[in-house]
Amino acid sequence: MSLLMETAEKFIRDRKLDRSGYQLLLDHEQDPQLLSRIREEAVALREKIYGHDVYIRGLIEFTNYCKNNCFYCGIRRDNRQLHRYRLTGEEILSCCGQGYELGFRTFVLQGGEDPYFDDDRMIQIVSEIRRSYPDCAITLSLGERTKESYQRLFDAGADRYLLRHETADAGHYQSLHPQVMSFENRMRCLRDLKAIGYQVGAGMMVGSPGQTSLHLAEDLVFLQELRPHMVGIGPFIPHHDTMYAGEPAGSVETTLFLLSLIRIMLPGVLLPATTALGTLDPQGREKGLMAGANVIMPNLSPAENRKDYVLYDNKICIGEDPACCLGCLEKRVSRAGCHLVTDRGDYKGGGL
Ligand code: SAH
Repeated sequence: MSLLMETAEKFIRDRKLDRSGYQLLLDHEQDPQLLSRIREEAVALREKIYGHDVYIRGLIEFTNYCKNNCFYCGIRRDNRQLHRYRLTGEEILSCCGQGYELGFRTFVLQGGEDPYFDDDRMIQIVSEIRRSYPDCAITLSLGERTKESYQRLFDAGADRYLLRHETADAGHYQSLHPQVMSFENRMRCLRDLKAIGYQVGAGMMVGSPGQTSLHLAEDLVFLQELRPHMVGIGPFIPHHDTMYAGEPAGSVETTLFLLSLIRIMLPGVLLPATTALGTLDPQGREKGLMAGANVIMPNLSPAENRKDYVLYDNKICIGEDPACCLGCLEKRVSRAGCHLVTDRGDYKGGGL
């Protein structure tokens, strides 16, 4: 057997590799034998744990104000071309209500780092959702906050937190972010979230400017150590009002290969087929499911605000209303041989 396939078999057996092992696999992502072996194993593992179930998460993009200035992001503070909006507590609750009627049992509140939504305001919103929908999971994706703040939001009823690490290489992290942001603080946040008891989601952009296969190998080692409950990965896509406007987008194929590797590494992980993947390839989300993903996150934000929550160019689903969106997704999911499920879709790790 070749060293490449031996490494693949070792990974499948042990569910872990060192950085050079991952780099070898990543540098041969186009090898047909490797690709089909890894994909087949990833899909078999997903089916063993989750069957053909695909979970839906209702995404509510409740503010596009942001105090941060991440170089790649369309809602960064210095983008003056953007119309900024905030939903009121009532509007957020009404998105949840609409979502609940449609069968959503997880709400994901995502936004820029907007100081208006301080702890008191967020706690009020989270407690209100918790009171109104005791059977639903509440996921937050609000960026970096203090441990105390994460704890208070958890106590108010939040269950899960998504905070992508973006890249596990400190130097690469710094090249994508302004000086005031730091890799150390990002890591501190992820550690705090886990210690508090959140189900935690990490993840990276694939093909962000300056990224090499060595960086991606570091990302895999990092995920292997952190063991998050969820991993959100998607291709980098340039945004026209950022300094990376002229950079090439990340690769759909690499993203799919990484989804399969992550499914094998963490068999019970919740793995979304992301909107960014669907943006670069019209069949991207179906392909993601067929590579081992098991989560889809449709948009529940009010139609008039969606066009303003633009992290990157050409984002899909900015016109549809949630009901249409769900019909379209049902078709896509069944084309991938799966079906949508309407429960909280909790982590089923542990077992394997
Ligand atoms: N402010 C929050 C959440 C909003 S950004 C936070 O920092 O966690 C959500 C995710 O969108 C980011 O973690 C990043 O990985 C992704 N993103 C931002 N800009 C992007 C781009 N140009 N292309 C692809 N993904 C991008």
